[in-house]
Amino acid sequence: MPTYSYACTACSHAFDAVQSIHDDALTDCPECTGAVRKQFGSVGVTFKGSGFYRTDSRSESKKPAKSATSSKS
Ligand SMILES: [Zn+2]
Repeated sequence: MPTYSYACTACSHAFDAVQSIHDDALTDCPECTGAVRKQFGSVGVTFKGSGFYRTDSRSESKKPAKSATSSKS
């Protein structure tokens, strides 16, 4: 079952919940019963504190490395 990350919009409490994809998304913070927001695509990443930046340079390395060896005749 996938793990979903949630963060409370009221108290910033962050937690993970293991849910079936058929389950409804959580809406209540277990700490303060405030509204929680589902965090997408960031399982295992915590947003606590500052200075954490994800430098996604994969699009850079995705460039097709044109090797000049293809000009063999
Ligand atoms: Zn909360």
